[in-house]
Amino acid sequence: MGRDLDIFEGMSEASEATERLVGDFEMPNQFIPNLDEYSRIVLFHSGGKDSMSCMLYLLELGIPAHRIELHHHEVDGENPEHLMDYPSTHNYMEKVAEAFGMPLYFSFRVGGFEREMLRENSGTAPITFTRGDGTVVTMGGERSKQSTRRKFPQVTADLRTRWCSGVLKIDVGSRLLINDPRFTDGKTLVISGERAEESTNRARYSEFEPHRADNRDGRVPRWIDHWRPVHKWTERQVWQLIKKWKVTPHAAYWIGAGRASCLLCIFGSSNQWATVRMIAPEQFMRVANYETEFGYTIHRSLSVIEQADRGEPFEAALRWKHLAMSKTFDMPIFTENWILPAGAFGESCGPS
Ligand code: SF4
Repeated sequence: MGRDLDIFEGMSEASEATERLVGDFEMPNQFIPNLDEYSRIVLFHSGGKDSMSCMLYLLELGIPAHRIELHHHEVDGENPEHLMDYPSTHNYMEKVAEAFGMPLYFSFRVGGFEREMLRENSGTAPITFTRGDGTVVTMGGERSKQSTRRKFPQVTADLRTRWCSGVLKIDVGSRLLINDPRFTDGKTLVISGERAEESTNRARYSEFEPHRADNRDGRVPRWIDHWRPVHKWTERQVWQLIKKWKVTPHAAYWIGAGRASCLLCIFGSSNQWATVRMIAPEQFMRVANYETEFGYTIHRSLSVIEQADRGEPFEAALRWKHLAMSKTFDMPIFTENWILPAGAFGESCGPS
């Protein structure tokens, strides 16, 4: 596991903040579907605190770990030279799955964010995912419309123009459910961690509904429900449960970010862009250069360089840079003296 628990030494202020801000977890009184009805539980896990709290909540409800499949969509695809994502996320997911004894599946759009953004008179790329029997499949894309993007996603709630979430995550998730025959056998429960508190758009999501890949009345029926168990939860409840299980949160929170979305998320605040420029200068300059090449900035009027110039890097980022930028997650997954990371209850600019 690399670094040891002594990293927390001398952090008494953080321990006090943990006591003051978090408190103890209490089981909420809320709707719970009949979990025994489902042949499998598929949890779309970003590595962030909300999907982590879904995972821990399922364990609290008595679901055995081996019944919970973790699925993580890689934003940069198979590309090891990340453009948008935290280099440590992939290994963090591996270590979480290993620590809890849960099966883990990775899936992605081939070429990831960068290939999709650079599309020129071409269709969208196929997706790659692993079927339940272990076969790795790359499929789709042949019939997609030829068109040109050559711009960043727009900073909006509309998924048609903020294409990254739809193309790289939502669609990848649906396609793997549709194209693995095991999902036609019995019922599947998909879990994801959107919370109403995050945005007015997310507040409108249903807590429980048929998943978009559901086809229960089709010729070959596929029964898939979608449950958002933490939809009504506050951020405090989320941290309470993570604290209870003593799980080390994703690197994003240690460097001071409020969300573990992409490191270079298009929704980034000035402080986030200043932080990224400091800890990931090469990724930052690639994005800055694309803005110049396309003649369009991510923000409606400011380039990422101008945004970074207006912001201040998060104080914690220097100390925890190694954790975010390493391709291995060099901390234990369980922490005896659990403390709240710097990004908790802080700036959480991200998808609406
Ligand atoms: S985290 Fe931000 S940049 Fe990454 S896919 Fe989501 S909205 Fe797009």
